[in-house]
Amino acid sequence: MECLFCSIAKQTIPADIIYQDDDVIAFHDIAPQAPNHFLVIPKKHITTINDLEPEDASLFGKLAITAKQIATAQGIADNGYRLVMNCNEDGGQTVYHIHLHVLGGRKLQWPPG
Ligand code: 5GP
Ligand code: ZN
Repeated sequence: MECLFCSIAKQTIPADIIYQDDDVIAFHDIAPQAPNHFLVIPKKHITTINDLEPEDASLFGKLAITAKQIATAQGIADNGYRLVMNCNEDGGQTVYHIHLHVLGGRKLQWPPG
């Protein structure tokens, strides 16, 4: 079985895509935890944050830049939003292809559960 998010990146599995370019793709989370909840992923498969290499630095930065641009377009940038990337079991990772959660549109609690 191919990785779920690789399949979404290749568009062999459908997703509600917000933005994509050669490097990244952003789509709505299937189970949104806030009024605005989308994921930004690299098209390249990277399993967890622990698998990042120095040469991934600009790609990783592009995830945040893309998140900011979409948050701005969605009108949540000024009120604020949260970026989350879970790593492995204790971090709550369930899909093993790194993805940046962007959550906004309501006041979020801190600390997380
Ligand atoms: P994690 O728990 O790994 O940090 O986050 C995985 C996220 O992917 C969850 O928020 C979950 O709702 C979302 N997700 C899982 N499967 C799919 C899917 O098939 N399509 C979309 N759009 N999101 C998914
Ligand atoms: Zn993958």
